[in-house]
Amino acid sequence: MEFEVTGALMQSYTICKRQVWLMAHQIVPDQEHPYIEIGRLIDENSYQRDRKKIHFENVVLDLVRMEKDNILIGEVKKSSKAEDSAKMQLLFYLYKLKQSGITAKGQLFFPEERKREVVELTPEFEREVIKAIEEIKDIVYKEKPPAFIKIPYCKNCGYKEFCMS
Ligand code: SF4
Repeated sequence: MEFEVTGALMQSYTICKRQVWLMAHQIVPDQEHPYIEIGRLIDENSYQRDRKKIHFENVVLDLVRMEKDNILIGEVKKSSKAEDSAKMQLLFYLYKLKQSGITAKGQLFFPEERKREVVELTPEFEREVIKAIEEIKDIVYKEKPPAFIKIPYCKNCGYKEFCMS
């Protein structure tokens, strides 16, 4: 199958490798799941003032602003509990921009917690992103998804019914 690594896959990669395979193989999660619903509501209502969705290659950037001479891209997230995966997703976007000659900084927004975090693509994070892209490809090109291993995230995952039935 032909596929491109996306921000959503990068986010899943830090949570569950099985989810990466399911998502890439277009197995549709339970859309009525409350976690997905809350995420969608926040997506629609938060930061409306300066909100712009920018489509760039296979990347959808949540929020783009000019700050002094810098381009700032942002991602709006429901909860900082999944901060690591949100950070990896944003680093992936910064990496894709850099590949197109655009230097940007990132910021994560957690509106429910009134919290923000600056994210920069340091050389170390860049190496991490490149390694993750390769590993995602390895997972997705396998014939079957990685075996189901129950993790705390499962209870909030849209694939719960699929994995646990
Ligand atoms: S239910 Fe659990 S194992 Fe299945 S995709 Fe979601 S997080 Fe991964």
